[in-house]
Amino acid sequence: MSPAEQPSTVTRFAPSPTGLLHVGNLRTAVLGWALARRDGGRFILRLDDTDSARSRPEFADAIRRDLDWLGLDRDAEVRQSDRRCRHRAALGRLAEAGRAYDCFETAEELAGKRREEQARGMPPVYDRAALRLDPAERARLAAERTPHRRFLLEHERVGWDDLIRGAVEVDAASLSDPVLAREDGEILYTLASVVDDAELGVTHVVRGADHLSNTAVQIQLFRALGAPPPAFAHHALMTWPDGRPLSKRHGAPSAADLREAGVEPAALLSFLLRLGSADPVEVTADPGTLVAALDLSRFGAAPTVFDPAELGRHSARTLRALPVGRVRSRLEALGVPAEVAPALWQAVAPNVERVEDAGEWWAICRDGAEPAIAPEDEAFVAEALALLPSPPWGPEAWYAWTGAVKAATGRKGAALYRPLRRALTGRDRGPEMAALMPLLRHAPRPGGGDPAKPA
Ligand code: GLU
Repeated sequence: MSPAEQPSTVTRFAPSPTGLLHVGNLRTAVLGWALARRDGGRFILRLDDTDSARSRPEFADAIRRDLDWLGLDRDAEVRQSDRRCRHRAALGRLAEAGRAYDCFETAEELAGKRREEQARGMPPVYDRAALRLDPAERARLAAERTPHRRFLLEHERVGWDDLIRGAVEVDAASLSDPVLAREDGEILYTLASVVDDAELGVTHVVRGADHLSNTAVQIQLFRALGAPPPAFAHHALMTWPDGRPLSKRHGAPSAADLREAGVEPAALLSFLLRLGSADPVEVTADPGTLVAALDLSRFGAAPTVFDPAELGRHSARTLRALPVGRVRSRLEALGVPAEVAPALWQAVAPNVERVEDAGEWWAICRDGAEPAIAPEDEAFVAEALALLPSPPWGPEAWYAWTGAVKAATGRKGAALYRPLRRALTGRDRGPEMAALMPLLRHAPRPGGGDPAKPA
């Protein structure tokens, strides 16, 4: 096949809209999106919403919002609930080929069988009793119950070359024949996913390692439906630094939690593109270079540790490197006037952890700060403020003023600068005063108290 004929990469992110995306789901989305973008292919959002009792449009909206926030653009969106007739048609084909069969056990009977098997130390694998029913018994059950349907697995070892884990093999004999359709006719994920992946031309399925045994089953389903299986990449599960799984039950942060904590989306994106890979996490305002360099084979099978403190540090470093154009709208939303934003960002960016921190510095510039003056510095600060010309101040103001104060008082170093910073900003630390001073609109009133506001 010539390169021009090669099918271009098609990936999909397939969340169920039954809850909020957490950081593990985001990683699945990021890697699938990046693979498609790296190859100039297509990225599809597939909403796995066949469970009508639990799927909610507001969760689908939240998923879209989260993907938009991270910058994961989509080429198409598909809802599984719109494709039910395709799923049913596929089930019909499997039944015709003798690969789907009716089962009449109730949920209680199946639970009883599982308990018995476990008590005998056996893995809880469905015993295929439905295939051994004699015709009379089958007719009796069919008269009183609606069947659910299972897929007849071939008891073989199913292998594939996983893009992350290398050669993987699963013994299908160790798995239960999966249920494809419930008694009420609803087609379940296992089959619906294969039908959609095949018909939407998905070439690469990227998902978590919790799907490894599904993959063995689904590879058999692809083959039974006459479709070539896609390539698979199963990333390792994520854990907290103490080894607990990063699951909803163990408080995995949702995308909304991270957004509210002020995590920078470009940082989260670049973090997730490298976390668990042999390549180091890189601070970049432009994840495009990381996308171009994505190499799934550099990711490992060992659990990936998610350390929120590391993400926080990475987020702050990424944010500080952003040009003002990337934060302008958020600064404006915090009340920073458009004409002030570039100088404010230049002054405060090195000192912020979150964009909101820049808003706090803007409030100090606009309204003045409550001066913080230690009792032992009161006389010194009063003398210094007497030497301070009225605002507006230029870029040289800080040097000129501190030079004059130094000459008048003989103070130098931290004993000179810190009380002056505290008098002007109310804080011990912060941006370079030379850059901040031209943005401060008020001088503190000599002797402390409210800053002098212009009349
Ligand atoms: N809806 C499935 C899930 O969220 C999709 C898994 C897959 O990627 O096939 O686990």
